[in-house]
Amino acid sequence: MRRWPATLFLLVTAIGSAQAQANRTFTHADTLRGSIGPGRAWWDATFYDLHVKVSPADSSIRGWNGITYRVLSAGQEMQIDLQVPMEADSMVQDGKPLTWRRDGNAFFVTLPSAQRVGSHRTVTVYYHGKPIAARRAPWDGGYIWKRDSLANTWVTTANQGAGASIWWPTKDTQADEPDSQRIAITVPDPMVDISNGRLRKTTHNADGTTTFEWFVTSPINNYDVAVNAGTYAHFSDIFKGEAGNLTLDFWPLTYHVDTAKVQWQQAKPMLACFEHWFGPYPWYADGYKLVETPHLGMEHQSAVAYGNRFKNGYFSGSLGGPERWTDFSGMGEGYKWDFIIVHESAHEWFGNNITATDDADGWIHESFANYAEGIFSECQDGKEAGAQYLIGSRRQIRNDSPIVGPYGVNRGGSGDVYYKGGSMLHTMRQIVDNDEKWRAVLRGLNKTFWHQTVTGRQVQDYMSKQSGINFDKVFEQYLTTTRVPTLEYRINQGTLSFRWTNVVPGFDMPVKVLLSPGVYSWIHPAEAWDSAEIKLPSAAEFKVDENFYVRAVNAGG
Ligand SMILES: [Zn+2]
Repeated sequence: MRRWPATLFLLVTAIGSAQAQANRTFTHADTLRGSIGPGRAWWDATFYDLHVKVSPADSSIRGWNGITYRVLSAGQEMQIDLQVPMEADSMVQDGKPLTWRRDGNAFFVTLPSAQRVGSHRTVTVYYHGKPIAARRAPWDGGYIWKRDSLANTWVTTANQGAGASIWWPTKDTQADEPDSQRIAITVPDPMVDISNGRLRKTTHNADGTTTFEWFVTSPINNYDVAVNAGTYAHFSDIFKGEAGNLTLDFWPLTYHVDTAKVQWQQAKPMLACFEHWFGPYPWYADGYKLVETPHLGMEHQSAVAYGNRFKNGYFSGSLGGPERWTDFSGMGEGYKWDFIIVHESAHEWFGNNITATDDADGWIHESFANYAEGIFSECQDGKEAGAQYLIGSRRQIRNDSPIVGPYGVNRGGSGDVYYKGGSMLHTMRQIVDNDEKWRAVLRGLNKTFWHQTVTGRQVQDYMSKQSGINFDKVFEQYLTTTRVPTLEYRINQGTLSFRWTNVVPGFDMPVKVLLSPGVYSWIHPAEAWDSAEIKLPSAAEFKVDENFYVRAVNAGG
């Protein structure tokens, strides 16, 4: 999803600038949440066994999570995150109660028994409370207690950024995903819960509730774990994809089933396009689902949350403004497809399959998801349409603060992580100058980092190595500065003089420019002046290929 949507800045000015966000000071709690501290480093989560009873009547939940982990090194104090105002009732290992001290949103649990390196152990946490209710989901996090248009109770969760520990006890970092997870959600009859993975069992309880036991067989980042409980209809389909038959399960509200059967047909061409460019859908075992939600949407793994109201474009009414749909590119391309199906599903590859260990490297999620929007336009309408979508989307770029955020405090960087990051990738594709090679790099990323959490550095190194082009300076420029590379040039008697300014030291990215009528040619500017022969009738006709996200300034006046 999008934590810092450009439109949010335009429509809700009261929230302050991104620069103010970037300059905020970080607290002890931010560090506990965002770092791999001593209470986290010694163990690796392998299985979460989550059981939660949801009570819409008083907006409370109660449940337990069995946290199974592998011991990596000596450690007796374990950090388990569960945010205020949730309460832990008891914690147990080997049938014995554990003691803990609470430090805000983190619990430090003392484990009296030996934690032998390599062994698998389980701590079970029993808890309850009234979880924070999201006021502006999905931009903030928490439970969304709603009624649908027919007054049926509708309960959903969205907690990217805020974190899964807003409603369940977990090791709340993107750096550690369990290998699999059970999500057993109990709701009052006749509500139906749709969570991630596959439904293994439905149990009707004597107290007028039903337990829906979902199981995810793959690693899952914990902000993706979701409750979607309401009055849902169901229809299904099969997508014959690169890894066989992928089950598609669609869960709209009952009264939207006819509309959904039309709008959600976009799932198939989306899957075909993204499999072609990014490789096989990462979760054949868990299936692909679209689940209607009252909030705009979220990349909940194998159960994508959908709240775009069954229209193409981006439903900007979700930001509190008038009910309308937007094309971020301003080129018309964004009205040709459903933003939430395309953007959130793109995260199945970039965000869910390949997860950033630290939110500071959120470009691994959002820059690629924005780039994927352009790729989908390309699949639908051709290469030029895809390029125009990405080029047009540059109007959203602010260059207010760097894309890469501060490390270790669970904080992302600038909202430019979307459109500027997408434009960076589009620029890199020009430099690779070989679409099959570029596609192999994108597919290779998903294959090499399959079901893994990675650092931004790993992604950068992989892309340089596989393309055979050292992109270090390009990444440094676009990800860590707010400066747009500027081609300074002069044209004098058939000679073009040029150099890069406004760049990081050593920046020498090649770029295509018009050197003769109708023909773009490569030049290789650096920080020192260089020159090339130019055959244009007038200097005014000089242009830089607009596929490159750079500026050009005539230094000759
Ligand atoms: Zn996103």
